[in-house]
Formats: sequence, C-alpha cells, structure tokens
Amino acid sequence: MWKKGVKTDIYDVAVAGGGTAGVFAAIAAAAAGARTLLIEKNSVLGGTMTAGGVSYPGLFFAWGKQIIGGHCWEAVQRVAALGGAQIPEMTYKSEHHWQQQIRLDKLTLACVLDEMCREHQVCVWLHTSLASANETGSGVTLQLAGKDGLVSVQAKKVIDATGDAQLTRSLGYACDKSGRLQPATLFVRLDNIPDHVATANLAEQVHHAIREQRLPAWSTPGTILGTLSGRSLAFHVACAADSDTTAGRTRLEMDARREALQIVRFLRGLDGLQALHVAEFSLECGVRETNRIVGEYTITARDYISGRRFGDAVCNAFYPIDLHEPPYSIKQVFFEEGLYAQVPYRALVPRGSTHLLAAGRIISSDTDANSALRVQAPCMAEGQAAGCAAAIAASENQPVAAVDYHSLCQALERQGAIIPGEV
Ligand SMILES: Cc1cc2nc3c(=O)[nH]c(=O)nc-3n(C[C@H](O)[C@H](O)[C@H](O)COP(=O)(O)OP(=O)(O)OC[C@H]3O[C@@H](n4cnc5c(N)ncnc54)[C@H](O)[C@@H]3O)c2cc1C
Repeated sequence: MWKKGVKTDIYDVAVAGGGTAGVFAAIAAAAAGARTLLIEKNSVLGGTMTAGGVSYPGLFFAWGKQIIGGHCWEAVQRVAALGGAQIPEMTYKSEHHWQQQIRLDKLTLACVLDEMCREHQVCVWLHTSLASANETGSGVTLQLAGKDGLVSVQAKKVIDATGDAQLTRSLGYACDKSGRLQPATLFVRLDNIPDHVATANLAEQVHHAIREQRLPAWSTPGTILGTLSGRSLAFHVACAADSDTTAGRTRLEMDARREALQIVRFLRGLDGLQALHVAEFSLECGVRETNRIVGEYTITARDYISGRRFGDAVCNAFYPIDLHEPPYSIKQVFFEEGLYAQVPYRALVPRGSTHLLAAGRIISSDTDANSALRVQAPCMAEGQAAGCAAAIAASENQPVAAVDYHSLCQALERQGAIIPGEV
C-alpha cells in the first residue's frame, strides 16, 4: 500500500496521541463512520492513565447523578467486568471528591482500550510519534516517525490529543502556558516492607542524608514515614517551562528516577528494611500541565465554578478547581451544591482552525479552570465530542468550526454520550 516513506492512504480523521482523550476521540470518529488513524508514541494506549500510572478517573457523577457517559463509561464497565475496577458509591460529599474516583487496573484498561479500538476498526499505530504537520487546502499532512522510518499521511481532519498541544503548535496555531506550571509526579510502588519498622532516630538520619545529598532536599521524616506506611512513593518533580521539549522532558524523567533511587537506597539502609525493593514504577512522570490551545472560546474559572451554561456545550465536568502549587500545597475551590460545569465546543476549536480540533488537558481554559478540566472523565468526554465533530466535518467537507451543533449532539447521543442539559 505504500512506497518509500509515503503512506498513500488518506484518512478522514487522524488523532495524534492515544491517551485519555485521544483513544475516545478515535473510537468516536470511527463509530461515526470516519476512516480513522490513531497514532501513539508509547507501547500502550491510555497515556497518563496507563504509562503515567494515574488510573483513577474522576468524576463521572455530580451530586449523585451521572453526568459523563458514552464510550469512556463503557470502558470502565468492561474493566469492571474483568475484576479490574473499584467503583465507589456515588454519593458526593464536598471536599471528598477524590473518593468518587474509580480505581482501574491500568493493564486491564490498556487491553480494553486496544479491544475497543479494534472493534471500531480504528487503525492504531503504536511506537509512532508525530514529528511535524502542515495544512493543505483539503486537510493536513502529518509527518510521523515510527518503526518504518519517516512516513507521511494525509487526513481531512485532525485532532490534537498529545497533552502538550504538539500538533497545534506544529500547525502554527496559538497556545498559552501558565507562568508557573504545576509539578509533575512519579509513582513508585515498593514491596517487602515489614509492618513494624523502628523509626526512633529517623529524623536525625533523614537530615544527615539530606546534608550529604543522599536524599532529595525536599525529603522530611514525614515524607519518609508516609512512603513506608503507604508502601509507595508519589513525589513531585518541578515541571519546568521546557518540559514540552525533548531535553526538558528527558531531564524531568531522569531527575525523578534519580530521586526515586536515592530514596530507595536510603530506605534499604534502615534497620529492618534491607529486603525492601521496587515492585513497580510508572513508565513516565504524570505531567499535569504544559501548553493549552487558544480556542474560539476560553473557559474561565468563573465560567467553570459558577456552572455557566453554554449554547454549544458538548459535555459536562465536575471536579473542584485543584491547582497544585509546588512543593506540596493545593488551591481548591468547590462547587456550590447542585452546580457542575459545561464544556463548550468552541473551547475544542483552535482559533482560526479549519481542519484541527483539540481534546484533553490542552483545551482552551485559563489556569484555574484548566486545573479542574484536566481530570480524566472530562478529557475522555471531550475526546468523544472532538471525534464525532471531526467525523461530521470530514464527511461534510466543512471547517471544524462550522459543524452543526444539533447534528453533533445527535451523533454523540447515538454513541451513548450524556449531552449537557439532559441531566
Ligand atoms: C500526577 C497526576 C495526578 C492526577 N490525578 C488525577 C486524578 O486523581 N483523577 C483524574 O481524573 N485525573 C487526574 N489527573 C489528570 C489526568 O490524569 C490528566 O490530565 C489526563 O489524563 C490528561 O489526558 P490527555 O489525554 O490530555 O493526555 P494524556 O493522557 O497524557 O495523553 C497524551 C498522549 O499523547 C501521546 N503523545 C504525546 N506526544 C506525542 C507525539 N508527538 N506523537 C504521538 N503520541 C504522542 C502520549 O504518549 C499520551 O499517550 C492527574 C494527573 C497527574 C499528572
């Protein structure tokens, strides 16, 4: 089908990034009848949910009612049917929002995402990175780097679900970035920790190890005790402004693993912990934020937390504003009782774009609104909305901004999504 670096196939829709939003964008586009390509740089689908180790999506329910459904809810159900999900009672109590998250086994989830893509005939290319992109009159040409070398493919409409807005930036559309980024987090699970560990002179040992640079400077006796009792490490690494570059992201990942090793070596030197070892660590740091698109509409914190209704709303969202401020504080703002937020379609449309949509944590939103919208359930629902919209725009050969809202709602409804205003 292809010769020397050029795929001759033309796709209706191509999705860059097979993570939280991208998988559901691709499934939705394919389910809406589009010939769909999904490219992912990792070996598994799921992005931050799988490779990043954050497999506890929130929040599908608000005030006891389901507000997000569709393909993502089906994925949760499939994981649950395989014994891989803990679904709590959905009786929301303000400030205990995290108890409403669903804990998923990430490997089961990755397999289920493969299965759903296969069933919907999404063409999935793993180990394939978006290198660059350019617009043609009739669509977008993507340059991809994969196991076959450099390859170009064409698509009528494309969706940026890279988490970093890499496709948007590559096509020259405007992006935004907060002045101070939230930290990234590496997850490490430890094994062979006895139930009782002597910690009499722990504080002294921790301070001594910090002075000798054998422990990260941010360590405290409290963080070390927390690691022992939780049998896991989940620690923040500063997410620098350049962590959307190869050099910056490499530094982030390697700094995190160096700090993890320092802590593991320190712990193994304590009495009774000589057998402690790493059982698992996530394959990459969970990155909370880098770039966001500048869309046809930018969701503000006030829009979000006041539950503003939009005439072009494509999905709901319900999570407090949750801005992690380094090193370990969190700014949180909760909804008043009964309120939840809506996401307008225009926040998925990069300003001035004809062929490009965005989904996931990169949608157009200010810093505080984004700290809430970035969570997984809305990312998945935005993915489904972007996928349906791209499929419609491709089949009708029209700009993404011109997609008829009622046709989009009908397509989403056919796919089981919960349309705002219905709840
Ligand atoms: C530490 C941490 C804790 C969190 N806690 C929670 C929580 O408790 N509950 C919750 O719901 N949410 C939580 N979140 C938020 C949530 O997990 C993320 O914001 C969300 O998963 C982002 O989804 P996404 O689709 O935008 O990006 P991702 O899921 O990261 O997907 C992006 C995908 O694009 C791929 N990609 C990137 N560049 C390229 C390229 N050039 N070519 C090909 N593929 C590419 C990546 O490999 C990845 O698979 C947390 C996030 C972090 C980091």
